Amino acid sequence: MSAPTIGFIGAGNMATSLIGGMLQQNFKASRIMASDHSVEQRDKLARQFGIRTSADNTELARECDVLVLAVKPQGMQAVCRALPSERKDGQLVISIAAGISCQSLGQWLGEGTALVRCMPNTPSLRRQGVSGLFATEQVNEGQKQLAESILNAVGISLWLSEEAQIDAVTAVSGSGPAYFFYLIEAMTAAGEQLGLPRETAERLTLFTALGAADMAVHSDVDAAELRRRVSSPGGTTEQAINSFARDGFPEIIARGMQAAASRGAELS
Ligand code: NAD
Repeated sequence: MSAPTIGFIGAGNMATSLIGGMLQQNFKASRIMASDHSVEQRDKLARQFGIRTSADNTELARECDVLVLAVKPQGMQAVCRALPSERKDGQLVISIAAGISCQSLGQWLGEGTALVRCMPNTPSLRRQGVSGLFATEQVNEGQKQLAESILNAVGISLWLSEEAQIDAVTAVSGSGPAYFFYLIEAMTAAGEQLGLPRETAERLTLFTALGAADMAVHSDVDAAELRRRVSSPGGTTEQAINSFARDGFPEIIARGMQAAASRGAELS
């Protein structure tokens, strides 16, 4: 059996990073297509990756085994409704658009479509992403593996058992990079207040964030234990952690993430 053909509708930032990641894995350029209404985007992708491009989304819908819908959420309904009803048999449709439910996608594409909804995050652009994936019951095991291998080309992915969990994924990893950027901003400003040049404070903060995340990812104990191990009784770290705890750090984070999840639910 020949390798499946994967078609990207919308060839912007996310599609570019996914295709770039896939070509570094086992995917062949000859099995990937992309359509975009921007001629610049099409030319850029054709030059960069040697893949076939088209101005016509319906061509991909008729030919590809997998369609990855990678247009902005506000354009999704029009794109889906304009796809032909006679799409390729057994086609899998993967949507990476934030806030568009499988129910809406099913209505626009036709009930019974095999759908995977996915919430990636911006570090995917650096192949350090993490995605939550949800599959409708029409999706078979082979299609699930294929969806996973596409998303894993730009990081890692985790399956969700219920679509509603996508709102929690949005709150944790979808919006999460911004929380870390906020912490980096705050630590840089505090370092400056403590007398460091801004650039020094920023680099110390950035490499501490990178080092701490790397340690935590590769550790066999959880973050709470790692934190305890670097907080000697009566030491400097313990002073800072006690101060954060008195000011309600965990509650502040929980309230912010609740707000993100509620907004995600409202939008979909
Ligand atoms: P983008 O604007 O870079 O790319 C969208 C592309 O779609 C553009 O090149 C545009 O020309 C094209 N397009 C628009 N209408 C079209 C149409 N009718 N037919 C064909 N092409 C069309 O956007 P992006 O950042 O790549 O985001 C794409 C999707 O990924 C969005 O739905 C977004 O919610 C989702 N997403 C992105 C990120 C991220 O990190 N950028 C994270 C999570 C989810």
